[in-house]
Amino acid sequence: MPPAQTTTIHPLLDLRHVGRSRTIVATPASELVDRLGRPLRDLRISVTDRCNFRCNYCMPKEVFGKDYPYLPHASLLTFEEIARIAGLFVAQGVRKLRLTGGEPLLRRNLEALVAQLALLKTVDGETPDLTLTTNGSLLTRKAAALKDAGLRRVTVSLDGLDDAVFRRMNDVDFPVADVLHGIDAALHAGLGPVKVNMVVKRGTNDDQVLPMARHFRGTGVVLRFIEYMDVGSTNGWRMDEVLPSSELLARLRAELPLVAIPAATPGETAQRWAYADASGRPDASQGEIGFISSVTEAFCGDCNRARLSTDGRLFLCLFARDGHDLRGLLRDGGTDDELASAIAGIWQDRADRYSELRADLPPERAEAPGARRVEMSFIGG
Ligand code: SAM
Ligand code: SF4
Ligand code: SF4
Repeated sequence: MPPAQTTTIHPLLDLRHVGRSRTIVATPASELVDRLGRPLRDLRISVTDRCNFRCNYCMPKEVFGKDYPYLPHASLLTFEEIARIAGLFVAQGVRKLRLTGGEPLLRRNLEALVAQLALLKTVDGETPDLTLTTNGSLLTRKAAALKDAGLRRVTVSLDGLDDAVFRRMNDVDFPVADVLHGIDAALHAGLGPVKVNMVVKRGTNDDQVLPMARHFRGTGVVLRFIEYMDVGSTNGWRMDEVLPSSELLARLRAELPLVAIPAATPGETAQRWAYADASGRPDASQGEIGFISSVTEAFCGDCNRARLSTDGRLFLCLFARDGHDLRGLLRDGGTDDELASAIAGIWQDRADRYSELRADLPPERAEAPGARRVEMSFIGG
């Protein structure tokens, strides 16, 4: 059993070399766990709150119009600040770093940040699993440079294959062909296995589910279907627009030979299904698909993810209202030890499990507009 909550905050690691060298050697005295015994393994870093798409489930046009008050440049963490904070997280047990946004590829010279993060070492002495989630619109131009800088993999969000449906989903009339080129460019650059995330809204793009599955079958691309979530407070979420993964799976299994396979890593968000061969066993050449069922099957129990917002606040849950200000501490001259202690204390005090709590509510209350929550475009997926 993981250790119980402790209220004493103390530096867990020898962090004397952080900041001077980007190769951090750290030996955890004990594993950092939150109040529910969950370790800290995954840090998602939002590098911008801006986006060139207006997906209506994330940044609806009516709210994110041209007068929307995006963060001023001085509020953004610099690449050096991000790399320093990421180094401290990696030294505390984080193995996976994901760059996100807004649209991360809008941040100028993102390769320079990737290059800095690629120099970090986990507590096991490995390079962290360094990935990026993007809408794919700029990937054709950027894939090779990102790979050269040390990026390992990409996840591309794509909500349909039909051009008209896709243009409606991104709401800026962006053509699907350009995103498909971006995915090809990522594969060509060696940023595989590429994952494609599709948010499914009942009645809006659910007719794209089968075409998407057929299109990516056997290509090496892992397609994952995401239940439409009630993140933020601007997307007008309704339960009847959620297509539960169980229903989606039944639709797909009626047409395609799918067989369940186990999770690849602890805390993995997706339930995995492989295409089966004639004997019913997974056929590696045909690949797999995944389901991220954040609404109908909460997976808070092993949630090991922290999120760093563009302005340097640490959010402990996708549905959090507030974040913990690390930028203030950093810019006030906080030492690495002080920052590491703060991070450890914040994580040790974490008890968030929003999706599980919502799942326990009666349906009428699950849809009640809650207090303002952070927007997905602010902290990334
Ligand atoms: N702009 C990039 C992109 O779209 O990939 C990165 C940021 S975006 C906020 C990260 C992920 O969040 C995307 O895969 C997107 O589909 C997902 N997302 C945003 N709003 C969502 C919602 N309401 N429900 C489920 N997923 C959502
Ligand atoms: Fe932009 Fe990504 Fe949000 Fe779509 S999901 S609006 S691409 S940040
Ligand atoms: Fe993690 Fe919060 Fe999502 Fe639960 S609701 S899985 S705690 S991010």
